[in-house]
Amino acid sequence: MRTELKNPTRRRIVIKAGSHVLSDHGQFAHPVVEGLADGMVRLIRQGNDVVFVASGAVIAGKIFTGMDRALYPDHIKRPLAAIGQAALITECGHIFGRLDQPVGQILVGRDDFHHRERYLEIKNTLRALFRMNILPILNENDSVATEDSSFGDNDNLAAQLAGMLDADLLVLLSTVDGLYDGNPGHPGSRVIPLVNGITEGHLSEARYKGEHLASGGMPAKLAAIDKASHFGVPVILANGRASRVLARIFQGDDVGTYFQPRTNPLRQRKRWLAYSTHVKGSLVVDDGTCAALTRGRASLLSSGIVEVREHFGVRDVISIVSQSGEEIARGLTNYDWNTLQQIAGLNSAQLQARQWSEKIDEVVHRDNMVVLPAATGV
Ligand code: GLU
Repeated sequence: MRTELKNPTRRRIVIKAGSHVLSDHGQFAHPVVEGLADGMVRLIRQGNDVVFVASGAVIAGKIFTGMDRALYPDHIKRPLAAIGQAALITECGHIFGRLDQPVGQILVGRDDFHHRERYLEIKNTLRALFRMNILPILNENDSVATEDSSFGDNDNLAAQLAGMLDADLLVLLSTVDGLYDGNPGHPGSRVIPLVNGITEGHLSEARYKGEHLASGGMPAKLAAIDKASHFGVPVILANGRASRVLARIFQGDDVGTYFQPRTNPLRQRKRWLAYSTHVKGSLVVDDGTCAALTRGRASLLSSGIVEVREHFGVRDVISIVSQSGEEIARGLTNYDWNTLQQIAGLNSAQLQARQWSEKIDEVVHRDNMVVLPAATGV
């Protein structure tokens, strides 16, 4: 029994339901949404801050217009999302309204997470809604998202939000019962109740099994869970259609799979740097610099830079990449690409000889750098 989840109060909980949880055979799944709404309202009344990430705009658009999913080309997806999002939030408004729970809608794009001010504004708006006792319902703004500017899936969006809010729990509700120890379709397979750190083994097994859900499938889900766990947020993956699923989770029952968070989570600003930013270019560094950055508390100096890639400006986010091509860190650069091309590989004596020394400090200061978890093997 997961006693730490029992009767939570004053916790911050992000709950995400997938498109196929909220719809069933081309129809809006009213009883499922009503059950989830009841669970969320109970949590709010117990004093918790709850965020609901509701997928299904595109499917709702299809239901509303009667279009067959297989028939619509990609450019129809955006207008379908526009139609469906209105239908989705209207349904949610009615269902939560019957429980006397007002809701507010926030539609976000990946770019909103790249810009520090916009990122902080989303956070402020969510906090204000919590204070006003309004349940925020979020989705990606699918009607304007492009292929390269989209989150891809709402698991990723929900993980970002959980990190942004320092959530106490992220609940991902899907149409599977959890992470299985074998092929979910096989009778001998069992749901793993507890996972302490997602490994490459979990990921490659999910990829091999080709499990696919609404978008992205299990590999994308595991990537989102891994991200949340680097933010220090525990995650439960459970079946959103199961009866009283939220009530059972918060009674401490062994529902779905519980993913323990990392014990050394990234701090807030570093979370933003690691996962929410738009990388403008990269610096390839030598092996000694890689080792110093991943093991120590070193800043990046010009002497370790082997190559400057892409055009970027001062204070842009850049990737720091090893010579074998692995991205080891990200950070805010103190110099633009042009300056760095001239000083790459030069140590302080060489900089001095070329009369650069007065101007050049750390290229990326340690405080403005995050070493990516994969690089340290944590
Ligand atoms: N944002 C998409 C929608 O509402 C769903 C993405 C997902 O299924 O994760 O239609």
